[in-house]
Amino acid sequence: MIERTIEQKLNALLKLQSVDSKLDELRRVRGDLPNEVQDLEDEIIGFQTRINNFNNDVHSFESDIESRKHRKKDAEKLIQKYKEQQNNVRNNREFESLSKEVEAEELEMQICDKKIKEAQDKINRKQDDIAKVDKVLVERQKDLDAKKEELNNILAESENDEQKLLKDREKQTKNIEDRLLRSYDKIRDNSINGLAVVMVKRDACGGCFNIVPPQRQADIREKKKIIVCEHCGRILAGVEEVAPVEEKKARGRKIGSTNKKDEVVATVSSFTDIAAADLS
Ligand SMILES: [Zn+2]
Repeated sequence: MIERTIEQKLNALLKLQSVDSKLDELRRVRGDLPNEVQDLEDEIIGFQTRINNFNNDVHSFESDIESRKHRKKDAEKLIQKYKEQQNNVRNNREFESLSKEVEAEELEMQICDKKIKEAQDKINRKQDDIAKVDKVLVERQKDLDAKKEELNNILAESENDEQKLLKDREKQTKNIEDRLLRSYDKIRDNSINGLAVVMVKRDACGGCFNIVPPQRQADIREKKKIIVCEHCGRILAGVEEVAPVEEKKARGRKIGSTNKKDEVVATVSSFTDIAAADLS
């Protein structure tokens, strides 16, 4: 492998980090989308179940109405029959008895009418409910169709992006020696946000935001060795200049002092070696 300067190594690591961060984001976005579609599908199933339950209620009210109508017809027939029998009674007592039967059946008919009306009111209310839920269901179905299409597009698109990024990654890793790459992977695995290589921003580590002392920042600017954050262990690849005023101030400091030139770290075998090399 061609021997590279620390600066080249740091630049290669930064590029690799940028590719890996894009891959992380891609996978995160892609990971959420199927869940969103699943949530919508579950919601729609919930609405369909409600509509089915309402329809079952309607059917039971309808069969109730049917049986009441039958009962009413029976009552009508019985009244007819009792009235005919009244024409052939032998005494007053028999006539009165049939009159009571007629009254009872007339009462039954009234009850049937009342129950039929009640059931019809219930059906009307249920049908209003069904119409309301159905309206929401139609909207959700539209949402779902759009989401599904979006998901398919994004999946296809992200598949392309991922392939490009993976190729890019392969290219970048060729610029980094195996040992350093292993350290990088190890730091990344241990990091919640997947960052192994960060810049110093506003005097703080870009990974854990702890303050990086001025002398250390000067060492980082020198790029004579690979320096890691003493708090989180991430590789500090450089110092990001925030504003022209601060940049001027930073450059005003005496950097690149000659007594540090000997401290060149050639190879780094692991994260602990990076730390050791840094602290030596
Ligand atoms: Zn840190």
